[in-house]
Amino acid sequence: MFKSLRIQVIQPCRARCKWCGTYKKNGLFQKLIDQGTAKKVHDFYLEAVERFKPESLYISGGEPILMEGIGKYLAELGKHVERRIFLFTSFQYSAQTRENLDLEGTPWDKVILTHTTAGFDREIWDDMTQGFPFDLYIDNIRKLSALPWRKHVKFIINHDNLQKELEDFAELIKPDKTFHLSLKLMNNQAGNFGAGEIKKTRENVLKLIKDGIAGLPEGLDIETNLTGEDAIAGFMKGDGGESCPYRKEPLELRFAFHKGNDKSAKLQYRFCPHFPPSKHYIFKTGRENIDDITLAYNTGKWHSWCSKCRLRLYVKNSGASSDE
Ligand code: SF4
Repeated sequence: MFKSLRIQVIQPCRARCKWCGTYKKNGLFQKLIDQGTAKKVHDFYLEAVERFKPESLYISGGEPILMEGIGKYLAELGKHVERRIFLFTSFQYSAQTRENLDLEGTPWDKVILTHTTAGFDREIWDDMTQGFPFDLYIDNIRKLSALPWRKHVKFIINHDNLQKELEDFAELIKPDKTFHLSLKLMNNQAGNFGAGEIKKTRENVLKLIKDGIAGLPEGLDIETNLTGEDAIAGFMKGDGGESCPYRKEPLELRFAFHKGNDKSAKLQYRFCPHFPPSKHYIFKTGRENIDDITLAYNTGKWHSWCSKCRLRLYVKNSGASSDE
């Protein structure tokens, strides 16, 4: 039913990215693994994938690539995913950890190793990751990229030095045809979502859509269409989200971990990437029925959340629209 599914696996992350609060749950994640609750959550994800048979599956964490049995888990999930599985990684772990990943069983042709750059520049990287060694990061990208999966790397539009980041990436990684590059609006959507930053990003987005990126390094091809452009256009016309594609058909179901104990876990779920963090439904593993999710989608009650759509902020703060 849903074209894409997003899941957040319960696996501690070694990164300490400045804008991200997920690593603060590492202690809890480990406890849930030890208690067996994490396994129940991961089994539920399998059930959801089997039930909704998405074209694409996106897996974040924590750090999913560090999961024990990740290769076999990907193979199980892959049986019910029509096209591709995007496996997110931060590339922030030691060389020893990298060499001992449990990748046996990985369906290489279906998995795309996916990464959003915190900043492809030593100084920004050091600041954004709170000191993870840049050279080890580069080495991890090179070594893991040599495995037979495709790679997808996203760059952040609102970085002032995007052009330089792309040049450095081309020089240090030398991406071949197994890489796909694209752009993302911001990497701090949950916090610091200030009007000034949104305005700056919006200006960059509009300029990029109009002009493309000038002077890309040779051989580097980057996709410049962005998730949410249609909704932005609708808001600019003042339609209040009416024409947004996420409201017309079940394009996305995304799960995120909320809370958990030794008996059950509460997962948040929502139907688009742009609802503010406070807007979601809750699913309790082992206690609720997967059909409740379909029902929640079909009632359409969640359309009222669109008044708080994050994309609407772009439009409101750009001064380019009649949307109020
Ligand atoms: S919040 Fe509503 S209008 Fe905004 S992208 Fe999501 S479904 Fe569309």
